[in-house]
Amino acid sequence: MTKKNHQIAAGLAHLRGHGLAKGDPVALPITLASMYHLPGDPAGFNQYGRFSNPTWEAVEAAFAHIEDASAVIFPSGMAAIAAVLYATVKTGDRVLIPSDGYYTTRMLAERFLLPMGVTMDFRPTNGFCETGFEGYALVFVETPSNPGLDICDIEKAADMARQAGALLVVDNTTMTPFGQRPLDLGADIVVAADTKAPNGHSDVLFGHVASRNEAIMSAIRDWRKLAGSIPGPFESWLVLRGLETLEMRFDRMCSTAGLIAPRLDGHKAVQSIRFPGLPGDPARKVAQTQMQRFGFLIGLTFETEAAAETFVNETPYIQPATSFGGVHTSAERRARWGDAVSPEFVRLSIGCEPADELWSAMKEVLDGL
Ligand SMILES: *Cc1c(COP(=O)(O)O)cnc(C)c1O
Repeated sequence: MTKKNHQIAAGLAHLRGHGLAKGDPVALPITLASMYHLPGDPAGFNQYGRFSNPTWEAVEAAFAHIEDASAVIFPSGMAAIAAVLYATVKTGDRVLIPSDGYYTTRMLAERFLLPMGVTMDFRPTNGFCETGFEGYALVFVETPSNPGLDICDIEKAADMARQAGALLVVDNTTMTPFGQRPLDLGADIVVAADTKAPNGHSDVLFGHVASRNEAIMSAIRDWRKLAGSIPGPFESWLVLRGLETLEMRFDRMCSTAGLIAPRLDGHKAVQSIRFPGLPGDPARKVAQTQMQRFGFLIGLTFETEAAAETFVNETPYIQPATSFGGVHTSAERRARWGDAVSPEFVRLSIGCEPADELWSAMKEVLDGL
């Protein structure tokens, strides 16, 4: 972990402490409120539950601290992505979206933006910057892409977007700000599904948008207030609790992935593997320039679909489930949802179990395949 990540993590643990008065609870209280006591002129006060909430504010302060930018929270990753698209794109605009990223982003654009007169192109993450960004109002990248783990050079994409007059949006879900800092690399907006590693306990859906452009953030805040895409105070509180251990969990998950990936690579039951940290991985070079860690996701291809299912379902320390980033290791065949990957492909999300125990459990099942 870099010095900057350590400073952010240490500061995060004491953010609330700096604002406390004697006798206040150290842990954040949950404010459940639709109404606020509001006689007379309402300006400058909490007014209504769709507009503001003290628990949201504390969670947004935590995200702002981690991202070093303004942050607005949403009830899911898709709510955050929808907010960015609806608050920044207008009829007649052209947008560029990865063809191999999280499929719901493409579906949202096709199903709802296209009929409103927004045109769009889809391009694979690998080679994303090889053809220009001329004519686009917004360019959306997801790196490493979910589930294929291809990588796009964020700094290059940011330069190209600036020259083309396009906004660059980066979905940073697979890395978290402790693994990759798109705003520092020149992106205009970062979005993430905090449902994954930031919450980390597989019990909440959540998302956030962060940017250093205040005009954009003002539009994002207006979108939330007017569209009503608001997170629950309890869910917000749970995410804050998750964020307090994110740096530690992420560190452990990435270290374990780094230990296990070469062993999986060397096992005869594994036909091919994608992990940006492996010397032979096509994404490694760019990963080294822009990622602080190589992440905790590993792509595995087995000889048969049955072998893939056995690995996912029979390994005692693998939870067969969709989604990723929990404290428990989880995995699934993405082809079951229609992702453009082979039926033998498994996305493995390394959790916080001790690495030796996890590898022994995997090896036993792999040896039997
Ligand atoms: C999960 C995910 C999302 C959507 O998040 P939800 O909280 O499920 O709405 C968006 N982008 C990526 C890369 C994801 O993995």
